[in-house]
Amino acid sequence: MAVPQRRTSKTAKRLRRTHFKLEVTGLTACPHCGEMIRSHRVCPKCGYYDGKQVLKVANEGK
Ligand SMILES: [Zn+2]
Repeated sequence: MAVPQRRTSKTAKRLRRTHFKLEVTGLTACPHCGEMIRSHRVCPKCGYYDGKQVLKVANEGK
């Protein structure tokens, strides 16, 4: 069985994992309120989708 000749050092291991990170995908700014939202979803902040109000949002105090 193949066995590594040298144990990977802590630094080498950590440097390799600097490229290993989670990525936030599908995030866009809401055209109505500017909040960052997931695309193709109703904005949870203002309740708008496709330029129309489709949800009633409780905390819309102005
Ligand atoms: Zn919005």
